[in-house]
Amino acid sequence: MVLLSTNRKANSVSLREAVLKGMPEDGGLYIPSELPTISLDRFKGIRSYSFQEIAFFAAQALLGDEIDPDILKSIVFDTLNFDLPLVKLDENLYILELFHGPTLSFKDFGARFMARMISYYIAQSEKNLYVLVATSGDTGSAVAQSFYRVPGIQVVLLYPSGKVSLIQEKQFSALNENITVLEIEGTFDDCQILVKQAFASSELNSKLNLTSANSINIARLIPQTFYYFYVCAQFEGKNEIVISVPSGNFGNLTAGLMAKKMGCPVSHFTAAMNANDTFCRYLETGVFQPAPSKKTISNAMDVGNPSNAARIFYLYNQNLEALRKDLSGFSVSDDETREAIRDVFKTYGYLMDPHGAVGYLGLKRFFEKSPEKKCGIFLETAHPAKFSEMIEEIIGKPVPIPASLQESLKRKKQTVLFPNDFSQLKAFLLSKFFLNNL
Ligand SMILES: *Cc1c(COP(=O)(O)O)cnc(C)c1O
Repeated sequence: MVLLSTNRKANSVSLREAVLKGMPEDGGLYIPSELPTISLDRFKGIRSYSFQEIAFFAAQALLGDEIDPDILKSIVFDTLNFDLPLVKLDENLYILELFHGPTLSFKDFGARFMARMISYYIAQSEKNLYVLVATSGDTGSAVAQSFYRVPGIQVVLLYPSGKVSLIQEKQFSALNENITVLEIEGTFDDCQILVKQAFASSELNSKLNLTSANSINIARLIPQTFYYFYVCAQFEGKNEIVISVPSGNFGNLTAGLMAKKMGCPVSHFTAAMNANDTFCRYLETGVFQPAPSKKTISNAMDVGNPSNAARIFYLYNQNLEALRKDLSGFSVSDDETREAIRDVFKTYGYLMDPHGAVGYLGLKRFFEKSPEKKCGIFLETAHPAKFSEMIEEIIGKPVPIPASLQESLKRKKQTVLFPNDFSQLKAFLLSKFFLNNL
């Protein structure tokens, strides 16, 4: 696989380089120069294939020229080893539950696969790798759990003090060992700026081998293309399928559009957004104008400048009409989200989390506009128990907490309260890691 930069200036690279470097130097994002055609038609009884089998088939088509089949098979089978049930809510209305991984959000697919790819690649070199990541919640726990105890890797995670939920904080802050957690006295934006300053620092880069684990890394998107094939396989090409993707940085949706380019028979996508509607306005007007992020109850999608937009523009060659054929966009308010959680719980007894509820509403809006009979699926990206306090208020009933979350809640948080100051961050990283690395 050869990867290019969406800005078309940086040199093309191998998968290894794209994964270890994270981002090209021209400020674009890496994207495969060509996508293979993946056809599930030739399999008889495809419905009986497991997710891992379908994922391995797609992974071989995409990555088979770079990674030996036995290794690829173990990466797929070891990291994508949890359920993703397709739940039928009503005639032609389904939910794909993507939250059954260890940290109960869909970010486990991307983070676990990426961590294994990175450790596979660095096993071939001697140097330790330092993974810096800024998080507002779910990314931190998925990345920390995925790299926990992986030899040769140190993770430094920055998060804004007091601005993530208790459950999220416990999930990433109680691990210790190779996971260092800095509780920054600042906002999420401050954390992101500190991480960017670290990547720009020649002193740090000359002494430590740094990489990023945010969704700019193509290794997070690749495994997310697999579940779109899996869903379509469940219908064996009999239904016209519309998939609604609750979107923030648009990595998940980009993976869906890549799957469609590779022949996955999804007829249409909807990008479901909260009040952060930059992409919705782009689809309406053709002008992409980022805005400061607004705080909502679906907080993992509070993104005013979705980074994967660059990949979507590249995939569609900046052709807005072509993109509109494949994608509709909808933005919904917090009140509508709360009402949807209450309605769906009352009507079907199904409890959605706020992100999934935005996805549900995106699908509903789409069918109001285009009522032809199609099969609608929305993605549930987090377990509702991650937002139990808010949801209890909405439905007026306690939310059952799964055992794995109860375990994390018992743990003791271990963080270092840290000032929002880059010179101190640099000094901390060098004193903690540089001497070990000589
Ligand atoms: C990260 C996240 C999203 C948004 O996904 P993108 O790929 O950034 O669009 C949606 N829901 C949940 C629960 C998330 O953690």
